[in-house]
Amino acid sequence: MTNQIQIEDKTFEILLEKHNISKRTRLIGIQMNVDYENKCPIFIGVLNGSFLFMADLLREIEIPCEIGFIKVSSYEGTASKGIVKQAFGLPGNLHNRDVIIVEDIVDTGLTLNYVLDEVRKQGPASIKACTLLLKPEALIAPIKELEYTAFEIPNEFVVGYGLDYDGLGRNLKDIYREKTVPSHLL
Ligand code: 5GP
Repeated sequence: MTNQIQIEDKTFEILLEKHNISKRTRLIGIQMNVDYENKCPIFIGVLNGSFLFMADLLREIEIPCEIGFIKVSSYEGTASKGIVKQAFGLPGNLHNRDVIIVEDIVDTGLTLNYVLDEVRKQGPASIKACTLLLKPEALIAPIKELEYTAFEIPNEFVVGYGLDYDGLGRNLKDIYREKTVPSHLL
């Protein structure tokens, strides 16, 4: 672990160390093993950012379960519609299933709400969401399905452990936040 890293034009400093991420992940896994006892949930990871968290979380799950991934892309729609999202690869067999969406980070909550709507269309038995990181100050409205949150973080840009800056940094073991220059030094 290094305290400070450089990716392209930005400097990042350590926010969450891997051993703390592992501890929280283990606790969430234990809680899910209890909450879904005698069930067979399907975990759906939202790519790309969730791939490491999903892998580590699923290693803590001891009940029978299935796993899938989706990729959500967003692009600018017409001025009236704003950001339009599209999901690729959502499993088509979610009717009557207990679904757990796994996200890397919930910022405004638009992506998670979009995924929840897409899952709801298939008539699942239940839907819950789990996120590694949550930025409460950026969240537009509370999301009742968000049952499991590993860490609440300030409204700052973060990289590492699945999260990227300009495609880079996803392979970092720890999570870093963008280092900002104090205003009196600008
Ligand atoms: P939301 O739809 O909740 O606003 O944003 C969710 C998506 O925005 C995440 O899946 C992630 O791709 C991206 N995102 C939001 N905040 C950050 C951040 O601090 N760092 C990185 N790397 N991506 C972020």
